[in-house]
Amino acid sequence: MSTSSTPDDGPEAVSSFAELGVDPRLVKVLDAAGITAPFPIQTLTIADALAGRDVCGKAKTGSGKTLAFGIPLLQRMESSADGRPRALVLVPTRELALQVARELEPLAEAIGLRAVTVYGGAPLERQLAALAEPTDVIVATPGRLIDCIDRDAVSVADLRHVVVDEADRMADMGFLPQVEWILRHVEGTHQTLLFSATLDGVVETLVERYQADPVFHEVATDQVTVEAMRHLFLAVHEMDRTKVVAAIAGGVGRTIVFVATKRGADRLARSLGAEGVEARAIHGDLRQSDRERALRAFSDGKLGVLVATDVAARGIHVDDVDVVVHFDPSDDHKSYLHRSGRTARAGGTGVAVTLVLWNQELEVRRLQRRLKLDSPIIEVFSNDPRLADLTRFDDDTVG
Ligand code: ADP
Ligand code: MG
Repeated sequence: MSTSSTPDDGPEAVSSFAELGVDPRLVKVLDAAGITAPFPIQTLTIADALAGRDVCGKAKTGSGKTLAFGIPLLQRMESSADGRPRALVLVPTRELALQVARELEPLAEAIGLRAVTVYGGAPLERQLAALAEPTDVIVATPGRLIDCIDRDAVSVADLRHVVVDEADRMADMGFLPQVEWILRHVEGTHQTLLFSATLDGVVETLVERYQADPVFHEVATDQVTVEAMRHLFLAVHEMDRTKVVAAIAGGVGRTIVFVATKRGADRLARSLGAEGVEARAIHGDLRQSDRERALRAFSDGKLGVLVATDVAARGIHVDDVDVVVHFDPSDDHKSYLHRSGRTARAGGTGVAVTLVLWNQELEVRRLQRRLKLDSPIIEVFSNDPRLADLTRFDDDTVG
């Protein structure tokens, strides 16, 4: 077993996908998307995965894991004469299934492969119909894939490549029994790639059971670090809190606001609307199509504010989030970093703002201590002009 680890900024000498052995047809598609230099996790894993090794990759959210497995997977694949899929990517959520598919489809197409995406919360019939056509790659959530297998719409027996993406989330969300069921039903020799933001005991068990002589690659930081973004703590009054959010959101492009409950998310989205700031909520009770529409509008820049519960926001990738607002403060430092990390993805930096009601000050101080952040809690009212340009708080927070 070999292991490697590198700091996040990647000291590797390799500076292009071509040097890693990536097929020129894929390089061309990547180029067109502005993806020219491999991220560290990609530099680490692509060559080994192209060589056919089982790879276990660990890197924080937003570090480019999709291409780290997607490129070698597609490049090594052979389209099967019988039209049965040869590769499977398992992901924990519908949103991730769609995101991974969006990222991989143009690449698959460039080398003449057909990908099909199956996930829960959408009509089964259409997905069954898609699977009835010759299929090379499946991107799937575990539960829905098993539905499809049970209906004989697809078989995993002949897979040559299997990816478990976000293995830690699979475990958190209770999907490991389904994942293992699927992995057990793969019959012939195959390559297994496993990617995760964290590697704990449960994920290690998956590695032990389903990977053969894996090579481990890790990009050293497994968490978004507090240094990657700016932090503001604002003491606000309950009646003024929504207006404070409106004032912040009015000054920037994209804002994600985290709230504790689904009802709270709906309520805040509505009251922001009443303040003239168009916002939409995403949470588990909404129809899948509504969540997708909100997300698409947000990533297209047509919607400035997304109000999210923690669960709904898991694994969602949106570039260029300017501000994360903790409307309800995070319960713990992990959740704080997870939420705030939305602004620090793919090397970007942003601001994380925590709104603090008078009776939340003690818990927020405790959170700050855990984060080793020694920021003052600054009292503001919604008519404070600094809210429209958060950099103006810097004078107050330095030192
Ligand atoms: P992860 O799965 O590690 O959370 P993703 O694979 O979703 O991260 O990648 C995060 C973002 O970075 C995506 O928008 C992706 O298109 C972009 N990206 C990935 N690799 C590169 C690269 N080498 N150069 C520029 N952008 C990249
Ligand atoms: Mg990912």
